[in-house]
Amino acid sequence: MTEDKNLWTKSTCAYCGVGCGIEASLDAKGELNIRGDKSHPANFGNLCSKGLALGETVSHDGRLLQPSINGVESDWPTALQHVAEKFSQTIEEFGPDSVAFYVSGQLLTEDYYVANKLMKGFIGSGNIDTNSRLCMSSSVVGYKRAFGTDTVPGCYEDLDTAELVVITGSNLAWCHPVIFQRLKAEKEKRDNLFIVVIDPRETDTCSIADLHLAIQPETDVTLFNGLLAYLAEHNKLDQDYIQAHSEGFDTALEAAQQSSQDLTQVAATLNVSEQDLTTFYQHFADTEKSLSIYSQGTNQSTQGSSKVNSIINTHIATGRIGKPGMGPFSITGQPNAMGGREVGGLANMLAAHMEFGDPEAHQMISDFWQTEQLATQQGLKAVDMFDAINEGKIKAVWVMATNPVVSLPNSNKIIAALEKCPLVVVSDCMAETATTKYADVLLPAQGWSEKSGTVTNSERRISRQRRLLPSPGAAKADWWIICEVAKRMGFADAFTYLHEGEVFTEFAKMTTLGNEDGLKRDLNLIGLTQLDAKGYSQLTPQQWPVTTLQTENIHQRMFTDKQFFTASKKAQFIAVSPTAQKPKNAAYPLILNSGRIRDHWHTMTRTGLSSRLGAHIAEPFVAINPEDAKTLNIENDSLVAINSEQGATLVRAKLTERQSKGQMFSPIHWNKQTAKSANVCNLVSDDNDPVSGQPGFKSTQVNVKKWHYHSEAMLLTRESLDLELFDYWVKQKVEQGYLYRIADNRSPIELAETLQGLLNNKLGKTLQFSTTEQSLQAVHRYAFVKDSKLSNAYITAAQLTTHSLEWLQSVLDLPLDSSIELTLISGIVQGKLAQGKIICACKQVGINTITEAIQDQGCQSLDSIKSCTSAGTGCGSCVPEVSNILADYLENNPHLVTEAVTSNGVEKITVEEFIV
Ligand code: SF4
Repeated sequence: MTEDKNLWTKSTCAYCGVGCGIEASLDAKGELNIRGDKSHPANFGNLCSKGLALGETVSHDGRLLQPSINGVESDWPTALQHVAEKFSQTIEEFGPDSVAFYVSGQLLTEDYYVANKLMKGFIGSGNIDTNSRLCMSSSVVGYKRAFGTDTVPGCYEDLDTAELVVITGSNLAWCHPVIFQRLKAEKEKRDNLFIVVIDPRETDTCSIADLHLAIQPETDVTLFNGLLAYLAEHNKLDQDYIQAHSEGFDTALEAAQQSSQDLTQVAATLNVSEQDLTTFYQHFADTEKSLSIYSQGTNQSTQGSSKVNSIINTHIATGRIGKPGMGPFSITGQPNAMGGREVGGLANMLAAHMEFGDPEAHQMISDFWQTEQLATQQGLKAVDMFDAINEGKIKAVWVMATNPVVSLPNSNKIIAALEKCPLVVVSDCMAETATTKYADVLLPAQGWSEKSGTVTNSERRISRQRRLLPSPGAAKADWWIICEVAKRMGFADAFTYLHEGEVFTEFAKMTTLGNEDGLKRDLNLIGLTQLDAKGYSQLTPQQWPVTTLQTENIHQRMFTDKQFFTASKKAQFIAVSPTAQKPKNAAYPLILNSGRIRDHWHTMTRTGLSSRLGAHIAEPFVAINPEDAKTLNIENDSLVAINSEQGATLVRAKLTERQSKGQMFSPIHWNKQTAKSANVCNLVSDDNDPVSGQPGFKSTQVNVKKWHYHSEAMLLTRESLDLELFDYWVKQKVEQGYLYRIADNRSPIELAETLQGLLNNKLGKTLQFSTTEQSLQAVHRYAFVKDSKLSNAYITAAQLTTHSLEWLQSVLDLPLDSSIELTLISGIVQGKLAQGKIICACKQVGINTITEAIQDQGCQSLDSIKSCTSAGTGCGSCVPEVSNILADYLENNPHLVTEAVTSNGVEKITVEEFIV
């Protein structure tokens, strides 16, 4: 990539399925600057906090730089030969189904394509599955059952014209922020837009909702079956559409009516008011332009497929598919989950949307790939695959670009499986993940900024991801690694690509097999089959189907002709009923929901490198309703142990009314590299949807108990430390170092002594300055200075108010002057250090700065806070949180309210309302 500051390279964000276009440029200091690509139709220049911070995550910290075999550094020829020989030997001895690939939505389409080609086409097994199984496989089932194809019918443009948007099972504000901001802007512009959020939790997404239905977990099928029954009862069905273009309506309606006999019963099951339920049903019934957006809250369930079809049924019944502003719209989690679906990354699909069990498809693929070994049966889905490893049926597994020890349910079982497996190959860009620890062979892969290929976003848009930086060490492209192993396994003729563009055009040609006119399968890329290297290099975003190369941004909907890809060409209603939930276990009386937070991504291998992103929420937590907490004798910020039948975690309790009684929420991101015991997947069972194989991450039966300890510490270091000797620790990346939160059963003084020993050992150098102070509260503060720079600092006490010590996050990055020394020694916080928890990651604005603006500068609207503090003026992801801070502050300090607050994002509040 050029270092000319004026030249920007277009690429795609590394994170969620929105698939935002970015532009990147290297500055004179060698730093990667990132901005939104204004010409990209997914985001028109907007980015969220994660996208904006991409440049901070490309450091080579912790990168895997060299292949290794059994812990001994190796070179590429040796490592590739070793992997090829071991796989070949295993296949020869135990057959093709004794090996497996577990791949990832982080792979590019080209990587995915060759991995699938090798496993299904030449090894001859279906055993390739992807971590996208955990994210959206229930949506795949829903679409395929209803439309005969895994196709998202709508596009983002529908957000601009929909008049009812139902957001169900999705915290769009945090998980897909650019889509959320687009919808929020529409909400501010249009009076005719009604938004319903369906979520057991009150999330930031509710900030734009006209109606929030906080349904009980796992009652979605009852809710949408109730809607179908309501539409029938109130003559709001599109009978012509049902008659002419669908099948199975009567059975689906009968099932819906059986599980939702009347509004009163449905409302009681959901635990929402009948009035709210009726409001939702009426709006859906009366609003033609109804868009249903759903995501992991719908998919990650043991009845996820039924949930999806219960939503789709309501759209078929009203004919609301294939027209602007309406349709069932699943928003994918990962950047290329969609690309994986397209090239056969799921164990139950062949490439290019062709199917197992279709002899014509088998013949076409065999001829196209020139193979006689094409797998004839579906392979094992993710959970079953790791069960088979555990049972010794799979004896060699290759994990690519994913971290199953942290992300698959029942982590202990995954670890046991990997420990037992005779050959575990892991290709990853990071050296130390929870999974690389169990690898016999480690292969260094390129990271996001080094990779070149394509990804497909949630609206079927294929975008180029371009190489921005050179790869460090010996890191290579995933597609290259796979092809080199394939060649050494004896399949050289089929894997001789000169560059990734050749892989892509082969895939594009495959989509046309028996399908030149796109009538057999809608995934058709005939317009891209003739791309040469230059054309591929310069490819602009293309939304499939691509009949001719798209030279401008288009917005296509599917099924506009009311023709589907089922045998009868008609959409299929699927009769679904709620599945009986696991009987309640009195020992685990609470329901734990799991999910993402705003500024982190998956297992933090990238976002954990950015101090900006780490500052928003620095510690793993569990959100608990205050009434539950009171019963359990748990205070805000105390440490609690969460236990399930599978395992346990130790996290910080956060009391919030936004969490319904009897339910809790914990984020998924922390793992063994970033916390002692905070991996939520330790708790989740591997029960999964019988059709999609997707595990139920959203409702685990747990109990929670206060965890007692004798001391706490905050430890600031310039180097990463091994703190396994302590009972509780969490690591946070800060500028120039790390901030650890520690709790332990040692006494405060013993903890301080242990820390001192650890730091002395680590430093091995004479310290030039240290100070100890024992105040009345027995707080021990130590600071070590070397060459006029702060080297390490820690504070220990029986109990610390950790959130009041968040100023430590900034200390290493500031020149060590007398005021900072004073703060370190005395704990009296002043100056720049006083801004508290970071709320706005883009502009680095803390909660204290915002609160002071409200209190001291009279800011009583979002706009005035923005102009006083700059908070909320970057990507906008923090705006709901800033609004909540303002609303909470004014609610608790009604005497400060001097005017009606009317700014966007904050409800209109009057002095009278506060006094009441
Ligand atoms: Fe990246 Fe944010 Fe866009 Fe998702 S919404 S693709 S995380 S910038």
